[in-house]
Amino acid sequence: MSKRDYYEILGVPKSAGADEIKKAYRQKAIQYHPDKNPDNKEAEEKFKEAAEAYDVLSDPNKKARYDQFGHAGVQGASGGGYDAGGFSMDDIYSRFGEMFESWGFGGSRGRYRQRVARGSDVRIRVKLTLEEIARGVEKKVKLSKAVACRECRGKGAKDSHGVSTCGTCRGAGVVTRVTQTILGTMQQSSTCPTCHGEGTIITNPCPKCHGEGTVRGDEEITFTIPAGVQQGMQVNVAGKGNAARHGGVNGNLLVVIEEEPHEHFQRDESDLIYSLFISVGQAIMGDSVEVPIIDGKAKIKIEPGTQSGRILRLRGKGLPHVQSYGAGDMLVQVNVWIPKKLTKEEQKLLEKLNASDNFKPKPSKEDRNFFERMRRMVG
Ligand SMILES: [Zn+2]
Ligand SMILES: [Zn+2]
Repeated sequence: MSKRDYYEILGVPKSAGADEIKKAYRQKAIQYHPDKNPDNKEAEEKFKEAAEAYDVLSDPNKKARYDQFGHAGVQGASGGGYDAGGFSMDDIYSRFGEMFESWGFGGSRGRYRQRVARGSDVRIRVKLTLEEIARGVEKKVKLSKAVACRECRGKGAKDSHGVSTCGTCRGAGVVTRVTQTILGTMQQSSTCPTCHGEGTIITNPCPKCHGEGTVRGDEEITFTIPAGVQQGMQVNVAGKGNAARHGGVNGNLLVVIEEEPHEHFQRDESDLIYSLFISVGQAIMGDSVEVPIIDGKAKIKIEPGTQSGRILRLRGKGLPHVQSYGAGDMLVQVNVWIPKKLTKEEQKLLEKLNASDNFKPKPSKEDRNFFERMRRMVG
């Protein structure tokens, strides 16, 4: 099933700012909210679709990736996004529940089922060299975070008798009431204040974690960074964030990419740029020279009569594209090294050469045209 464009879903232009996006989402969320459309599958789908679109477009990071790569940019491991199935109702209420409450709706997802606690995400930064980015890399980090209590296996109760059904909500996790609002009669649900939506309360807490189910601890985590990532991209490692209270769902580990500068190369998206210096003699007579590439060395041919500023392209020798097959190019910018000091003897030779007709500049149209050279580099 092909997904609809997020901007189209919210009905905003690509240039829309944060306020406009939020306003558009509010409108859709109110229109399709399940409280106003009970047992309406179509409305529920629209409600989910709008939430997913808003989740991406309201997050500058995700929005940038979506603008650049489309749905592929916010899907799967490198996107930190959603599977093909999109957002579940649980996801929506856990993310936007408070916002719905501020709009007059019951924000709790407990109406659909009991609330499961979710651990918070942990965000870390990793520095990668261009070589690591070129190949993709496995990283290992030791994190200090909330981990499940071993004593009670994360449940928070001392033993199986230490938990009982919440008396306030009778296990439902929510309390519901019917109210009049400006939008009409609505059934409002809110999270049960006694059990915080869990439907159960701990009557005999585990002494080690004081009933939380989590304790502070270290965990060693290994994860893979796909090849071709860029500065500022975020890799989502599902379930490796903070543990949730009472054995709920773990948060995610969000790995933000930082790129270390390279001694030889500059990066332009997937292309690598290398500045090569050759001597006047090499430029005039031609030569075969060795240049570094990301995974070793390559020989390139300097044609006789090569002008300074010429750019040579090594196809596919750049970095892999992160969202698709193939790789960028390496661009070798040729610079002719002009000596700054001369011996008397060199001076004499050069004066002689310089008087020769061949040494008078006779640039071709292409040589003259700066944009022509640039186009050769970009195109
Ligand atoms: Zn309760
Ligand atoms: Zn415990």
